[in-house]
Amino acid sequence: MSLQESFDLGTPAGRLIQGEGGEGGSRAGETVQLGDCIACIQNQEAREQTGPSLARKAMNLGWSDFTHVASGMPMFDKVTYEDRLAICQECESYQPNGVCRECGCILAIKAKMRMETCPLAKW
Ligand code: SF4
Repeated sequence: MSLQESFDLGTPAGRLIQGEGGEGGSRAGETVQLGDCIACIQNQEAREQTGPSLARKAMNLGWSDFTHVASGMPMFDKVTYEDRLAICQECESYQPNGVCRECGCILAIKAKMRMETCPLAKW
């Protein structure tokens, strides 16, 4: 394991992860994995609550528009569109506002586009 992938809790960087003045003080020799830090956990929790960042949504939309136009804007028929929406509505990532939590896309639009795919490979 490289130095960048773990931190000794007895070091200043490790204490930052653990929290200065936290219970038990420093624990030299004990390591935590990168991604276990408080900021990483909070970022992950925020992402799970709100979905992708605005920048990520913009990139998803830009890429989606590009591939859709570049491929001649193929649309699915009504039945396939409704099948896709039905799958989304049963999905744990479907939000009441009709936006997918995984990709941040408006599903009523995304499901019509033939080139689009579900980020969880459900359709
Ligand atoms: S696009 Fe996929 S992940 Fe998103 S709500 Fe629909 S089924 Fe779920």
